[in-house]
Parts: sequence; structure tokens; C-alpha cells
Amino acid sequence: MREVGPGCPSAGRRRLACVPHVETRTGLVRRARKIDRVLAETYPDARCELDFDNAFELLVVTVLSAQTTDKRVNAVRPTLFAAYPTPAAMAAADREALEGIVGPLGFFRAKTESLLKLSAALVQDHGGEVPGRLADLVKLPGVGRKTANVVLGNAFDVPGITVDTHFGRLARRFGWTEETDPVKVEHAVGALFPKRDWTMLSHHLIWHGRRRCHAQKPACGACPLARLCPAYGEGPTDPEAAAKLVRTEGRA
Ligand code: SF4
Repeated sequence: MREVGPGCPSAGRRRLACVPHVETRTGLVRRARKIDRVLAETYPDARCELDFDNAFELLVVTVLSAQTTDKRVNAVRPTLFAAYPTPAAMAAADREALEGIVGPLGFFRAKTESLLKLSAALVQDHGGEVPGRLADLVKLPGVGRKTANVVLGNAFDVPGITVDTHFGRLARRFGWTEETDPVKVEHAVGALFPKRDWTMLSHHLIWHGRRRCHAQKPACGACPLARLCPAYGEGPTDPEAAAKLVRTEGRA
């Protein structure tokens, strides 16, 4: 049994039925899976919003997406991979030329350095291929667990949970976990779902976080999860006010 009520984000707010104050583990699992089903119906197109044609491209664009938006990375991608289509080509890139291409994404010196080191490691340690194992991916320069799980889930069909800022915030709002450390969130949420669902679950939460369940002013009054979410009321509950907060696509 765990408390979802007092002490939870919804304490003191108007509640919309269906989330009990005290929830059994079974109840939590059922509610979590119901939330995922509702999100799947709400966002049937949910997917990785970064464009890519192969594992190398996905690895690179995911590294580049730090501190910027997927749209900006997608805009740079055609030029980047026309110039450097393989790890070997990128590892041999002229630094200034590469900086010029990734310049619009900000932090261009650090990002260029990351791409050069990453490509060189792929060439030296993996025969110019992106490895398909978490243990190998996280040893690559500039690749953390989040990036590794994006690549595994979307380029290798290996289920992975991607705990970015949206995923962590929503998992806590849903009362799935109180953890703030991304690895702990990953394990806590992973235990609520079958492994096969992990990748799409990640897309569903990230899409919902980008479109409705914003960090500031979530669109609670226009949210299909209102009856399942202990944090209902954290944002405007008036349907008209909430509808104005809904975005039809991710951040530009
Ligand atoms: S928008 Fe509001 S009701 Fe919907 S998931 Fe976020 S906090 Fe919960």
C-alpha cells in the first residue's frame, strides 16, 4: 500500500474521482497501464521526433539534441549526413567545417568535440558500427543512459525507457515514483510495465509532456488523464483556459 493522497501532488486540490488516496501495488500497476493505454489512443502517431535513417544518425542527432529542440536538429541533419554519412567520415571531419554545420544548435564547440570523439570511438572500438548493447553504448564518449536507450529502442528494437525531463516530471505527477534520479525513475517505472512496452511508453510520456502536461501550467482541463492523475489541478482546470495551453506539436 502506498499513499497517493496526502503528501502527493494532488493534496489539497480538487480531485476528479478515480485516484484512491491509498493505492495497492496492483492498483498502481493497473492505473499506470491504463494511463499508457489512454496516451496511446490520444497520441497514435507518437514516435521519436528526431529524424534518422540508421543507428549512426540516431546516435548523432540524439547527442546533438541536448539543450536544443528536435526541430532544429532535424533541420541540420540533411547537411550533416550529406557531408559525413559514416563514423569514419565524421571522425575525419575538418573541425571548423563541422562546427559550421552544428553551429545553429548552440554549444557548437562542445557538440563538435563530442561528435569527433564519438565517431572516432565507433571506428576504433566497434569497426565503424553502432553497438546494440547498453553496456557498450554508455562507454562511448558523450553517450549517457538516456541517449543509449533512445538508440536501443528506436534503432535496434531493444526495449528501453528514456527518462528525459518530461518523462521524469510526468512519472512523478502520475504518482508512479517519487524518485528524481533518472536511473531510479527508469527502474521504478520499468517495474510497472512489461518490457515490450518500454519504448512506446517513453514516446507517450514525452509527447504528452510536450503537448499538454507542461512543466509550468499543465493543461489539466483539456487532459484525457484527468481522472487518472493525482496531480490534476496543478494547471488550469477550466476547459477553455486549458485548451489554449495545448500544443499540437513539440517545441519549435
Ligand atoms: S495535464 Fe494535469 S491532469 Fe493531465 S497528466 Fe498533467 S498534471 Fe495530470
